Amino acid sequence: MRVSVSLMGYRVTGSKCLILCVVLTFIMGCYLASLPLEDGKAALPKPIENAISNESNKKRMAILVPFRDRFEELLEFVPHMFAFLSKQDIPFHIFIVQQKDSNRFNRASLINVGFLHTRNDYDYIAMHDVDLLPLNDDLKYEYPESGPLHISSPDTHPRYYYKTFIGGILLIKREHFELVKGMSNNYWGWGLEDDEFYVRLRDVGLKVTRPSNITTGRDKTFRHMHDKTYRKRDMRKCFNQREVTRRRDRITGLHDVAYNIHSTHRVTVDGLPLTVLNVELVCNKETTPWCQCPDPNPPKKKAT
Ligand code: UDP
Ligand code: MN
Repeated sequence: MRVSVSLMGYRVTGSKCLILCVVLTFIMGCYLASLPLEDGKAALPKPIENAISNESNKKRMAILVPFRDRFEELLEFVPHMFAFLSKQDIPFHIFIVQQKDSNRFNRASLINVGFLHTRNDYDYIAMHDVDLLPLNDDLKYEYPESGPLHISSPDTHPRYYYKTFIGGILLIKREHFELVKGMSNNYWGWGLEDDEFYVRLRDVGLKVTRPSNITTGRDKTFRHMHDKTYRKRDMRKCFNQREVTRRRDRITGLHDVAYNIHSTHRVTVDGLPLTVLNVELVCNKETTPWCQCPDPNPPKKKAT
């Protein structure tokens, strides 16, 4: 018996039909193979290329922003950094490393966590305050090949003038950050973690460089969006914090930062992509009891 079917007005016999099916299956297979794979898992986000550059030979920068409760600043920071860096042809991605626990803010540990999370995909990090906006286009966020590059130099930072200051915005390549074992985890509350990091760099012989020929001075090189009464610095000192944090820390760093990444979020601000890492830092109360200072004025119990 000869089987034949009618296809779009043509009569097709059994053997031709078989060949047609094989050819169609092959074409479909090729098409499906060309589609990107999606495994549907909530895997760690891969770096998102920003529109400005996708060239593989360029060094990639992870901008790590230690963060808690600075949403207004963030809304200004993101569009500003995209506009500013779009003139420099640098592949970058912004990671907001948000502290989500009840301990005092720990800027250095958040930077350690941000580094561990990004080190496989990025060549260098910019540790970047969210409230400090670069204004002068001569501030180049280039790959810090020979040593850390301090963008917010004491000559131009609106508030900090001392020579060894390396806070605000510091670029460092992956190998150098690993060489000094990252930052100390002992600094809960405001201050000194950047000064301790300076000593780590000095101890291994790394020289910090700064942009040269910046002529815009302390008023016009950066915008520091920081009202000190609205955004109070947590300068409390409790237990033996003062004594311990004045000294160089030879123990803690990248290798022992205790944390959980609670969640990661890809978000956009004005359509611009960034990643929020929600981080729970775990405090060792034996070694750093000052991660929570006791309330100096606890509410009085009512007599019953
Ligand atoms: N920061 C934050 N929340 C805080 C304290 C600090 O997000 O409660 C982050 C933020 O990125 C900020 C940086 O840590 O820009 C440095 O802190 P701060 O601005 O208080 O230091 P400053 O350099 O102005 O003394
Ligand atoms: Mn500030």
